[in-house]
Amino acid sequence: PYDVLVVGGGPAGASAAIYAARKGIRTGIVAERFGGQVMDTMGIENFISVKHTEGPKLVASLEEHVKDYGIDVMNLQRAKRLEKKDLIEIELENGAVLKSKTVILSTGARWRNIGVPGEAEFKNKGVAYCPHCDGPLFEGKRVAVVGGGNSGVEAAIDLAGIVKHVTVLEYNAELKADAVLQDRLYSLPNVTVIKNAQTKEITGTDKVNGISYLDRETEEVRHIELEGIFVQIGLIPNTDWLGETIERTRFGEIIVDKHGATNLPGVFAAGDCTDSPYKQIIISMGSGATAALGAFDYMIRN
Ligand code: FAD
Repeated sequence: PYDVLVVGGGPAGASAAIYAARKGIRTGIVAERFGGQVMDTMGIENFISVKHTEGPKLVASLEEHVKDYGIDVMNLQRAKRLEKKDLIEIELENGAVLKSKTVILSTGARWRNIGVPGEAEFKNKGVAYCPHCDGPLFEGKRVAVVGGGNSGVEAAIDLAGIVKHVTVLEYNAELKADAVLQDRLYSLPNVTVIKNAQTKEITGTDKVNGISYLDRETEEVRHIELEGIFVQIGLIPNTDWLGETIERTRFGEIIVDKHGATNLPGVFAAGDCTDSPYKQIIISMGSGATAALGAFDYMIRN
């Protein structure tokens, strides 16, 4: 059996595996796609100490660092079941069952897509999902935020300080964000809020030049010219496969304590799949380190 088995090969999982392996214990990492969301990222400018890098380049360094240790890397393997017996068992989609004394869950999350024409085509060409990451790329430009919940309104407030103008498009008749956020939003001079707006299409040539939406009251389709669109309609943690064993929030995020421990002894979690409030590369790596040290501590006590 493994001492530490990491499920998920994004920055959280890579960091957890390295921290575990450095304790000289038997470490494995299972990943559906090594690199995770970072593989889909173009420019990264907030990975502290590296002024600028690109997703695939950072993933290559992660892989090289992981391979420097005797870590079993099982790439292109998806976990489908976790069960605690004497040891913790992880069953893979191919039927194999891996056993380990401790498990670190780092299966990450995915942004909910609007699913309209142009969205996939213009990803990284004007369509963005993370204001902390890509906000500065739109300095002085016009952007829209799709989604009027807390994340959408927070994103709009954040972006309003950087870009020229922000349009918030909300599908429903009212914004869902907390009142204090809405008050702040409406106090800003360079923000327009459009309600009852159903996004229909993201337009552009080689990059985004606008967005079309259906005004659900008048049934008219309107078009706004702009340079960027931030989609903020939800981040879905990849935790469905866990069934009832591991305690999660109503959003499906794994609940962890300060040591990265879940409710099930020996099972730890890190990164975007947890209830950590901010989802960033540097934060997921930090929590991966925490979970590995937490797992090591658990092992020497049990
Ligand atoms: P992920 O990166 O999501 O990795 C999850 C891993 O788990 C993957 O290997 C996946 O294949 C695997 N997995 C999932 N389910 C299973 C399963 N059942 N079995 C086995 N493996 C599984 N952050 C920044 O700090 N700066 C940026 O500039 C930035 N830009 C971004 C741009 C885009 C387009 C996106 C999508 C995100 C961006 N982020 C950025 C956010 C950052 O990528 C995430 O916060 C970070 O990758 C989270 O790391 P993670 O390891 O927790 O999860």
